[in-house]
Amino acid sequence: MSKKLLLKNAHIEGIRYFETYRKNGGYEAAEKALKMTPDEILEEVKASGLRGRGGAGFPTGMKWSFLAKPEGVPRHLVVNADESEPGTFKDRYLMEFLPHLLIEGMLISSYCLGSNVSYIYIRGEYSWIPDILEEAIEEAKAAGFLGKNILGTGFDCEIYVQRGGGAYICGEETALLESLEGKRGNPRLKPPFPAVKGLWERPTVVNNVESIAAVVPIIEITGAEYAKIGVGRSTGTKLISACGNINKPGVYEIDMTITVEEFIYSEEYCGGIKDGKRLKACIPGGSSVPIVPANLLLKTVNGEPRYMNYESLADGGFATGTMMGSGGFIVLDEDQCIVEHTMTLARFYNHESCGQCTPCREGTGWMYKILKKIEKGEGKMEDIDLLWDIQRKIEGNTICPLGDAAAWPVAAAIRHFRDEFEWHIKNPELSQTQNYGLAHY
Ligand code: SF4
Repeated sequence: MSKKLLLKNAHIEGIRYFETYRKNGGYEAAEKALKMTPDEILEEVKASGLRGRGGAGFPTGMKWSFLAKPEGVPRHLVVNADESEPGTFKDRYLMEFLPHLLIEGMLISSYCLGSNVSYIYIRGEYSWIPDILEEAIEEAKAAGFLGKNILGTGFDCEIYVQRGGGAYICGEETALLESLEGKRGNPRLKPPFPAVKGLWERPTVVNNVESIAAVVPIIEITGAEYAKIGVGRSTGTKLISACGNINKPGVYEIDMTITVEEFIYSEEYCGGIKDGKRLKACIPGGSSVPIVPANLLLKTVNGEPRYMNYESLADGGFATGTMMGSGGFIVLDEDQCIVEHTMTLARFYNHESCGQCTPCREGTGWMYKILKKIEKGEGKMEDIDLLWDIQRKIEGNTICPLGDAAAWPVAAAIRHFRDEFEWHIKNPELSQTQNYGLAHY
């Protein structure tokens, strides 16, 4: 059984309210942290090896250490709660059921970073959660854990919740900052990075909800102890939101030492494939990361088990591996059509492109149209190469990672399931009534 750090108290009734949270050890990490210096907290976060839980996996302590500290210029912490990646819903769970864990993590992080005004930018579709967060903020303030002179330390901190307008691109950190400033959420060219010029051109750290919540157990048990959980550079625990053709969809906390097979088939987690069907493929880290066929998902190219961690999932690089990403684990059974699935994702990225750069604006539309043609049985063999060519021209040639996120699923689908694309083209009459999965398994 995986060790629980973030969700250890999630089962307690009323844990969303301050009184219950406090009775169960809540805000003790904050009390401890406020007796430390900001540099000591930074060292603990660095020692923990915590990697950003939003998708990129960049070391959090290193990110914090890049924060510029010009004299007299305010700094900000912004929590990225714009969780819009298809298949990812772990931050929603944290905010809905453990809002004080996030508030406590923000208090500690704000103190460490010197942010007196911090923000939570939450996706517009999570319409009921801002009220939960604002209630938690008021409770924390009433108890002296937010506001002026917190616990007599002289440190002031206010937290504000800002609702997004429903654009996926606002999950990209610079688009998020634009939106938070009241502008259209267009990603900025980098550099300068937010750590130097972020919100209102002030030094800003943007971190994912889960990353900031993880600061609480790091302070509780120390960075060194946190680093002992997990394996290699995949330290601590990770929340995984599991969905698709499985028996037990939900949010699970894992310690990154379990195998993918165990995660999919054990009763503790996904409980196996629905209706006893066979596993066809999986997208382990949200819709932007490459899809992996079952054979490579359960074992590496060397025949070793594949583990649920950053290194093992990426093992083999882009050619065979994938990424931990945001932890949105999407399972596809033998009946799923990869072409249709890829087309659905292409439509999503085309719809969500902000339109600033040509490869993304035009390329995502072209990919969607070609995939739609193939899926309907109206494609030609050369369309597969055209599709491959378009995705290559998008990857690495755009302002923000949405371009890559749109290109990678298409590239991986062609790389691993080219025969399925060809089947659609060779069998136009069957294309609408059957799928390759049913015909060939
Ligand atoms: Fe906008 Fe796409 Fe360019 Fe990102 S890659 S800035 S979403 S057009």
